[in-house]
Amino acid sequence: MQDRKKRVQRLKKIIVITVATLLILPSIFCIILAVRIGNLEKQIQELKKEGNKSLEIVWNEETIEPINTAEEKTEEEVETEEAETEEQNVQKIYLTFDDGPSIYTEEILDILKRYNVKATFFVTGMNMPQYKDCLQKILDDGHTLGIHTYSHVYNDIYESLEAFQEDFYKLRDYIYECTGEDIKIYRFPGGSSNTIVSAQVREQIMKWLKEENIQYYDWNVSSGDASNTLLSAEEIAENCINGIKKCNTAIVLLHDSGGKKSTIEALPLIIEGINRLDDTILLPMDEETVAIQQIRLTEE
Ligand code: ZN
Repeated sequence: MQDRKKRVQRLKKIIVITVATLLILPSIFCIILAVRIGNLEKQIQELKKEGNKSLEIVWNEETIEPINTAEEKTEEEVETEEAETEEQNVQKIYLTFDDGPSIYTEEILDILKRYNVKATFFVTGMNMPQYKDCLQKILDDGHTLGIHTYSHVYNDIYESLEAFQEDFYKLRDYIYECTGEDIKIYRFPGGSSNTIVSAQVREQIMKWLKEENIQYYDWNVSSGDASNTLLSAEEIAENCINGIKKCNTAIVLLHDSGGKKSTIEALPLIIEGINRLDDTILLPMDEETVAIQQIRLTEE
């Protein structure tokens, strides 16, 4: 009888311990996981703050010291390093306007002047010679010009390398005649990843551009001002600012073609929005600008 009681008590103990263990272990796991998730979230926030450049910055900041730290740095070296770090931490933003010049280009130039902002115009020959004076005015105001296309007819220009070259030369020579500038930056109509051009012709074009020392640029922020549904100025500005926040270097796609009146209304909102962001600089593009490209040449 006594024995049986003891056995029952032992059994009870075992059951209690088993149940307790089954409850406690998962709880401990949960706590550990919660702490780890908390840490990871903190890291994600930090990374987000520093943008895509974060890895580079973490590398620089955290631990890695140059091996030859024993060598004293001159004051000049320290200053250069500080300037470089500062430059690295500033987000470069490029406003680009495609498909002009048009009836709206002058107005856009006026707004940019009012805010003392420089931008880039990827022009077409569509409205030439009517708006040809805009080409020189763009340069006189300190902006840069890029080649987009003379005709902007996708099926024609993407038919073959020869057809592409003909269109390209036509606009390049026209700009040269009007301004004396030999333009070295280019933007594919529809972007480099457009689906009109065949993969073969695209590659031929890219190789040829490279031989000609022409750098092509797509965009990583789309304002949406060319979308089928007409967006309000506020929506365009919001698209730009949200897109810019996600990028390290931001190339913003806008249009100054006829019919893009909301872009004009959006422009002050975009510039003011950018000015409210920390550590940003608005710049005109040139061939030294970091190449934002949707599709790159596969060789090499
Ligand atoms: Zn275009």
